[in-house]
Amino acid sequence: MAQGQALELYLHIPFCVRKCQYCDFLSMPAEEDVRRKYVDRLLEEIRIQSQQCKHYQVSSIFVGGGTPSLLAGVQVWEILEAVRRHFCLKADAEITLECNPGTLTAEKLSFYQSAGVNRLSLGLQSADNRELQKLGRIHTFEDFLGNFDLARKKGFDNINIDLISSLPGQTLQDWAFTLKKASGLMPEHISAYSLIIEEGTPFYKLYGEDEQRRQRGEVPRFLPSEETEREMYDMTREILAARGYCRYEISNYALPHRECRHNIGYWQLVPYLGLGLGSSSFMENVRFSNTRNLGAYLEGGFCRLTKIQEYAHRQCGENHECAKEQELSHQQEQTVFYLHKHQQMEEFMFLGMRMAEGVSRKKFEERFGIALEGIYGTVLNKLQHQGLMEQREGMVRLTEEGIAVSNYVFSEFILEGSL
Ligand code: SF4
Repeated sequence: MAQGQALELYLHIPFCVRKCQYCDFLSMPAEEDVRRKYVDRLLEEIRIQSQQCKHYQVSSIFVGGGTPSLLAGVQVWEILEAVRRHFCLKADAEITLECNPGTLTAEKLSFYQSAGVNRLSLGLQSADNRELQKLGRIHTFEDFLGNFDLARKKGFDNINIDLISSLPGQTLQDWAFTLKKASGLMPEHISAYSLIIEEGTPFYKLYGEDEQRRQRGEVPRFLPSEETEREMYDMTREILAARGYCRYEISNYALPHRECRHNIGYWQLVPYLGLGLGSSSFMENVRFSNTRNLGAYLEGGFCRLTKIQEYAHRQCGENHECAKEQELSHQQEQTVFYLHKHQQMEEFMFLGMRMAEGVSRKKFEERFGIALEGIYGTVLNKLQHQGLMEQREGMVRLTEEGIAVSNYVFSEFILEGSL
């Protein structure tokens, strides 16, 4: 079979037992009949969208949420079977399923295996039961251990554990405790993000003001200070490095050769198609996302790739001297906009610099037909002079100092207007 262009698939399952206190993801509790209707609609979306993807080969699938493991095992199987039937799936595709501790059973794991799931991502967040309770998680650390052990016994040999640092009241010792407990289990991958206090969440009511205080450089009352947050970050790398984990992205660590291929593809601007409620896609230089309204989605209100492709075609054919984001439609809360060349370059840099290996000069030139220096020469020199970036072996990357002020560094790569 001829090699098609690589495509990543993201499938969103927006259901959770209940909302965690800090969560602003698109997720909600739902009865079993709603979950069934949702799966049916998702199966239809898979079938319809696949018709426009015949020239792609799916290199990775990520089933995220929400809590995908809240679905019946057979429903996960149905979804992945539909993908297999309608898309061209690479034989070695990475297939990840997000799971919440406390929701896994031996039966579900058997379904996942027969559906081809070869990577599990477990949302532990903390190894301290008091912290878990504060976060509003549905599980204890012991629940997590039971599920982790079950998954290992079933033969899953590629497991990620998600952790969150900078929790209210958390000390350096508390964070070290969680890191040591999690890494002691030797999962293949650990994601460790700092807590973000999102508007509209219960945590925002409790800690929103404290977060603003912290951003003004004042000492927060409940949240760790900026300085402690930075120490937690450094500690993460040290503790995990001692166990053999390598930081390959700002917040992601893996044992050798166990980096998440799906994430890497995302950071390297591999086209991806999001299916399901509110999911985002990037294909043919168009960013688009499905409605976030469950009722509208269940009525079939997802973006149609045929429309997106027509739109992309029109945009390519037009002259964009003063290119701006152009929205195709807000119908049913879908958003669609074309990324012009300068915006593609910006994203290529923002996302690529998140990776420890950095951005490849060669890949930049291959993609955009112009040398990196031709666009960003002045910025690169300035950042290098400031000690925030380094250039080596055809790659440009952030230094440790650059990571600490990454938002500033990224802002330097914003291009004024079109090219
Ligand atoms: S389990 Fe995840 S998606 Fe669900 S409410 Fe908690 S943080 Fe949000």
